[in-house]
Amino acid sequence: MDRISWDEYFMAQSHLLAYRSTCTRLAVGATIVRDKRIIAGGYNGSISGGVHCIDEGCYVIDGHCVRTIHAEMNAILQCAKFGVPVEGAEMYVTHFPCLHCCRTIIQSGIKTLYYAKDYKNHPYAIEQFKEAGLVVKQVPFNDHNINPHYIEQMELTFELLRAVEEGGAGDQEKVEALKSKAHNLYPRSLHLK
Ligand SMILES: [Zn+2]
Ligand SMILES: [Zn+2]
Repeated sequence: MDRISWDEYFMAQSHLLAYRSTCTRLAVGATIVRDKRIIAGGYNGSISGGVHCIDEGCYVIDGHCVRTIHAEMNAILQCAKFGVPVEGAEMYVTHFPCLHCCRTIIQSGIKTLYYAKDYKNHPYAIEQFKEAGLVVKQVPFNDHNINPHYIEQMELTFELLRAVEEGGAGDQEKVEALKSKAHNLYPRSLHLK
């Protein structure tokens, strides 16, 4: 197995945190890093001890769930709670932050933001990040370096597609479309037919 890069490692941590989200609308994870050390992490969740969206449904006002504290804020608040300086730190987040989080990130002193997925990237957020001199970089996340079942899953997918092809079950065009989809999903599969 290849050694994963720091970016992949911290982004993986954020994606793992996202699995702890309690809001059903969007699962987000954020990790704060200083000198290649994880100093805090957060996910979309209710106030400690509060009811969860996954149990009670979302509390929606003006199209937004107001029950949860966003992952980015939770990570920064964790630092506030335990007195950990954030100045000059980096943040790894699964999705491009909303406007509120954008301003909180800037004000906290975080200097670099890595995000995996575009998510309603607001032009005002982009503008404010730029004005604040924050380095914002997209780091696409693919779990092929951390998924222990990657090879098996990839091989099974192509075995199934071959079986469909040989059995003449689907039309060729559809099979080819599924194959290219599978190649995109499994970047290491390019040698497989
Ligand atoms: Zn919710
Ligand atoms: Zn937010």
